Amino acid sequence: MKPTDPLDTPVRFLKGIGPRRAEVLEAHGIGTVRDLLRYYPYGYLDLGSVESIGALRTPGRGDVPRSTLGTVRTVELLGRPPRQRLVIVLEDGTGTVQLLFFEGINFLKRAFAAGDMLAVSGRVSRFRNQVQIVHPMIDRLSSGGEEGAAHEGFLHTGGIIPKYGSSKELRGVQLHVRGLRTIMREAVTHYLPNVPEILSPSILSARGLAGISESLESIHFPESHAALEVARRRLKYEELYLMQLLLALRRSAVKSAAPGIPFKVKSRLARALVDALPFTLTPGQVSAINEITKDMGEPKPMNRLLQGDVGSGKTVVALTAALVAVDNGYQAVFMAPTELLAEQHYQTISTSCAPLGVPVRILTGGVKGRDKDAIVRSIEEGEPGIYLGTHALIQKGIRFAKMGLAIIDEQHRFGVSQRLALRQGNPGQRGVQPDLLVMTATPIPRTLSMTLYGDLDVSVIRGLPPGRKKIVTSLRFEKERSAVYAFLRQQLAAGSQVYIVYPLVDESEKLDLKAATVSYEQLRTEVFPEISTGLVHGRMPSEDREAVMRAFKEGAIRILVATTVIEVGIDVPNASVMVVEHAERFGLSQLHQLRGRVGRGSSQSHAILMAPDWMKAKISRGASLLGVEGEPEENVIAVRRLVITRETDDGFIIAENDLKIRGPGEFFGTKQSGLPRLRIADLLTDQDLLDIARSDALATIDRDPHLRLDEHRNLRPVIAREMKELLPLTQSG
Ligand code: ADP
Ligand code: MG
Repeated sequence: MKPTDPLDTPVRFLKGIGPRRAEVLEAHGIGTVRDLLRYYPYGYLDLGSVESIGALRTPGRGDVPRSTLGTVRTVELLGRPPRQRLVIVLEDGTGTVQLLFFEGINFLKRAFAAGDMLAVSGRVSRFRNQVQIVHPMIDRLSSGGEEGAAHEGFLHTGGIIPKYGSSKELRGVQLHVRGLRTIMREAVTHYLPNVPEILSPSILSARGLAGISESLESIHFPESHAALEVARRRLKYEELYLMQLLLALRRSAVKSAAPGIPFKVKSRLARALVDALPFTLTPGQVSAINEITKDMGEPKPMNRLLQGDVGSGKTVVALTAALVAVDNGYQAVFMAPTELLAEQHYQTISTSCAPLGVPVRILTGGVKGRDKDAIVRSIEEGEPGIYLGTHALIQKGIRFAKMGLAIIDEQHRFGVSQRLALRQGNPGQRGVQPDLLVMTATPIPRTLSMTLYGDLDVSVIRGLPPGRKKIVTSLRFEKERSAVYAFLRQQLAAGSQVYIVYPLVDESEKLDLKAATVSYEQLRTEVFPEISTGLVHGRMPSEDREAVMRAFKEGAIRILVATTVIEVGIDVPNASVMVVEHAERFGLSQLHQLRGRVGRGSSQSHAILMAPDWMKAKISRGASLLGVEGEPEENVIAVRRLVITRETDDGFIIAENDLKIRGPGEFFGTKQSGLPRLRIADLLTDQDLLDIARSDALATIDRDPHLRLDEHRNLRPVIAREMKELLPLTQSG
């Protein structure tokens, strides 16, 4: 059957794409001509700055990296360990250059072969009259097996060669830069006229944007830097505009006309709590409380995000708000992402609420039988009080009769739909919306929070409570393990408590991880037999877990071996040392969160990131290996994460980097954010364009809420398609 839209043509119908290539492309998300045209280059190689190999003999200026292009003549291992090195000889018509590698050589030896065409850059040095580049950045343009892989094919391209993301599979079917260019040329020549212009003529002219056909052509086959810039701007704008349209449509779907509860905000209970605290609130906490209670006093529902770095003291702020609701005769619901965190909140909150006579209840998956029945009864009868728990709070069939305030802790761990489910399933009273307070330790750049939480007001707690010392973060490698244990012994002797965190619970054959349970036994019986040690993980019964946590909090347990269940929120001030095993397996924000478990008391805290030995050389060599094609990307990223974690403890910088490394989709969880993936725009560096796109999108929806105008006829189906893909989310959030 012939597809109606030519852009839906499967790539296998393009000249030069056989079944094998089609299969690999499909596996990379390139199934149709439309996908192919939108497979943008990740960068460009400027032949204007490329020198011939012969020209490298003349000294360059200073230490500036230089670029050249050539064909691999030989790939050889020289010398023997530990002084072994890999030498790749690259040639063009004018001479040869040696590429020298001391790290990752076995891998690289397999990755390159005679006949490959490479673009390389790096610092040029000389040794015995031979020009060399040590650990150059490499881009592979084509491999030896490819037909007619000659320089000429590239040199007649206007001087700017696009680089496309590559993978082992793509390389396996000869889809390097050159191969991709050939099929891209096919697609551009035959299908470009079919690509609809989705931007209205008024936007194109007002914003000075190029048309879609010329932009797609230039992004793949730029004739000049200027043309490339014009194309990039247009394509970025388009992505951001679409994203903003989707968000605006989602918001308008969510906006509810329901009134909120105008709480009386002078609260005896809140006052009593604050007076009884063993510390004074920080100015940041005070202003957050003021903003929140002001919202609560208003007759419209509160929608507020409370943002504060790990350890900034968000819990007590939320508790104050909860007490205001309780004082008004309402139920305050406090949802946490893990049972362990809910249990901890239960401990601290019930302790501080006991003297106030405020009921505090907990509902998690672990609460069953009669306990559960009793809680559900209070919930449904509308008994005022504080209700803590996990997802269990939003199970089907549970309805709070008098919910006044919904608090969501560590909101980034929940999806948009869960965030809304808590409130929507539970009208405070008939037709009235409860207030909503969501909390996160993840600081988000301004434009982004506007984008993602456009429907939320934001309060920020700046600064940490006084007296906290900077956490010393170090990277240690497997072979230094005994030194790490010696350090722990010394810290334990000085009275500290220690966390040792593992990425998994059970031994996994495949991943070769030391699982927490196995290591726990070893630590307890062999390494620290004289010290009381405990274990917590996600699969323990909650009573056991609670007992261990309590013992750790009280100091009866000195070493706590744990999985990432302790990642968020856990608060034990006397624990001042954290060891993260297999730190390379953790995400950046995760490492920051984990590290935030220490540094809560007044003694000097330490975070020790344990990494495998192979990383040592890479980290000490800095970035030298980071650009080599074929170096598995996950390794490169893992190295970067560890280095960043060591270098900074600023949650804002961490979040920005995490966002850069993972992209917004994964950073927020595509599912959670309900956003399409951005291919070319960058939310961090394209903020100006984002602002413009946002205001244009709002204006578009204002003028034509259902996109029915003729100028939006091409836009409408695109939005409809995206909405369909993201429908479950757009409906609820
Ligand atoms: P987070 O913002 O990461 O959720 P918590 O609310 O868990 O932080 O607070 C971290 C620790 O700081 C807790 O032990 C809490 O009792 C303590 N704390 C909170 N506010 C203050 C303050 N103003 N002064 C001193 N300690 C505080
Ligand atoms: Mg917290």
